[in-house]
Amino acid sequence: MVIDVITIFPAMVEAALAEGVIGRARERGLVEIRVRDLREYTDDRHRSVDDVPYGGGPGMVMKPEPLFRAVEAITAEGGRPPAVVLMTPQGRRFTHAEAGRLSRLDHLVMICGRYEGVDERVAEALVTDEISIGDYVLSGGELPALVVIDATVRLVPGVVGDAASVAADSFVDGWLDYPHYTRPAVFRGMAVPEVLVSGHHGEIERWRRAERERRTRARRPDLLSGGDDGLDTASRASRAGAAKEKRDHEGD
Ligand code: SAM
Repeated sequence: MVIDVITIFPAMVEAALAEGVIGRARERGLVEIRVRDLREYTDDRHRSVDDVPYGGGPGMVMKPEPLFRAVEAITAEGGRPPAVVLMTPQGRRFTHAEAGRLSRLDHLVMICGRYEGVDERVAEALVTDEISIGDYVLSGGELPALVVIDATVRLVPGVVGDAASVAADSFVDGWLDYPHYTRPAVFRGMAVPEVLVSGHHGEIERWRRAERERRTRARRPDLLSGGDDGLDTASRASRAGAAKEKRDHEGD
């Protein structure tokens, strides 16, 4: 998988992508991430990337020319990318299902906005997907792009060493994760649930399944309503299967 990130703050993006799971995935060649400085695609002495808004009003707007030039240069290097993503608070809300979809693409180009946002013609003619990370406004698209990259790349096969750990994460099959504990067994008077130290694998499995369900109902009942749960069809089917398995167990 190749990801190009277009930004006016390449050092900020590079720093975050050099560490941890994503940094290791890059080193191992599982994902190639190229951070592009938008100013490299300007053609004036001041390397301008923004200009005043037509119609007046506060702030500046990102000019279309450097962004078109950057995406066209990337396309010329390696063929048309399947997705050109604009980070914007007005986009579709990012979910686990969306991360899964992006993780199956060969090539992704991400545009980080700044100021009041980008000239609308970029969204109309260059961009295939507009993605928001939530209903709040940040000062730039770099942190949103990093959120999307992290959530996406960790779903690329091989990136997280133990695939079972990703499979048990919150949202993967429609439930939240179960609670985790490590040593010591008693900490400041708080004991680890008895079942976890029992060594009885069947009982532990049953407890974890019950905890996932309890937590999801208590904290995120919207995930169970089948409405806007961000799940893809496979995940919904998997959750339905898990619910059936649980009913069968309880019927035992
Ligand atoms: N005027 C814009 C609006 O109200 O829709 C907000 C512009 S914001 C200050 C500057 C840039 O930050 C945006 O162009 C976008 O790239 C990024 N951004 C801010 N909040 C975001 C969010 N919730 N999700 C994705 N990108 C966001």
